[in-house]
Amino acid sequence: MTTVGVLGGGQLGRLLALAGYPLGLRFRFLDPDADAPAGDVADHTLASYDEEHLARFAANVDVVTYEFENVPAGAAAFLARQVPVYPPPRALEVTQDRLEEKQFLRHLQIPTAEFAALDDTWGSVFEALERLVLPVVLKRQQLGYDGGGQQVLRTMAEVETAWVALGSSPALIEGLVGFTRELSLIAVRGRDGDVRYYPLVENRHLDGILRHSLAPAPHVEPRLQAEAEDYASRVLNTLGYVGVLTVEFFEHDGRLLVNELAPRVHNSGHWTIEGAATSQFENHLRAILGLPLGSTSAVGCSAMVNIIGTLPDAASILRLPDAHLHVYGKTPRRGRKLGHVTARVADAGLLEERVRVLRHLIGESDETGTELAHLNRV
Ligand code: AMP
Repeated sequence: MTTVGVLGGGQLGRLLALAGYPLGLRFRFLDPDADAPAGDVADHTLASYDEEHLARFAANVDVVTYEFENVPAGAAAFLARQVPVYPPPRALEVTQDRLEEKQFLRHLQIPTAEFAALDDTWGSVFEALERLVLPVVLKRQQLGYDGGGQQVLRTMAEVETAWVALGSSPALIEGLVGFTRELSLIAVRGRDGDVRYYPLVENRHLDGILRHSLAPAPHVEPRLQAEAEDYASRVLNTLGYVGVLTVEFFEHDGRLLVNELAPRVHNSGHWTIEGAATSQFENHLRAILGLPLGSTSAVGCSAMVNIIGTLPDAASILRLPDAHLHVYGKTPRRGRKLGHVTARVADAGLLEERVRVLRHLIGESDETGTELAHLNRV
């Protein structure tokens, strides 16, 4: 029996294991958190990413993957000397550092927001602001996740305060893009180089945290889908990538700018569990195991709504005939993703209504953003 080793044991890992059991796979997770949600459904090695634990972990698995991008790139590279690791550790290096990621995209001639690197001198801020006009987004170079480590700055006074708070942490600033909407593309590349793309997804964030997704994204012309696939293919082929890659975009003036890459299965792909012929989780496993990839076609239209902070009454959601509830087994805490609901409908015209009903049932109001504002500090 094949055992898949996964670095990180969050909800993405848990959903990966649940997709892998029908294929007869076993899972082993390495995560330093005793409450890792994947621990409920698979073997959980409670340990840090030091070489002694990694070596023991590698000895007991056939292939290694990861389910969050802040796994130390050195840990993945160390494991790769003992066991196949997919996606390649280079993908982690590129995506863990926002500046390196932007430079990598620019090198591939993929459009992004304007950006400038800051060092720990006020001069670098000044220089950056000569090129990028306010408002700008200040982002820490490392460890950004779910809108963490970033802040919109509208005045020079805000720039000064944020820069002082930053200390000497490496950071960059980006022009604030007045996007029409946010989209993402889930792509998967197999060990033999076969590539498949899911349809573009429309994502709505509040304070940098994904709230809901519509899939396939409404009103996407084939030209836009082709543009997204072209950019993704450049990244996949340059990195010799294997597994699922997520590309997040801003749609601006009818064109796409890449905001960021995630070298893993993604929250904006959760709809694929019920809404696509093969889920992103199953396709990721197929890819890393060298199996044929499954169809990425959408089946109907899906609305995915995240459950954040508090768990709703399950029965009220399950009363809806087309709703599928996923609960991750995490302790409720403000701002924490605890689960999601996907409603699959026949007609795209019904999606907005489903989102409205689901948001109401999970107790999400428009005020939630204000409540969470404190989480969004650099
Ligand atoms: P990130 O952590 O880079 O994925 O950013 C989280 C969210 O912040 C994005 O999904 C956008 O909603 C917003 N955001 C990030 N960068 C920019 C930007 N340069 N312009 C406008 N919005 C941004």
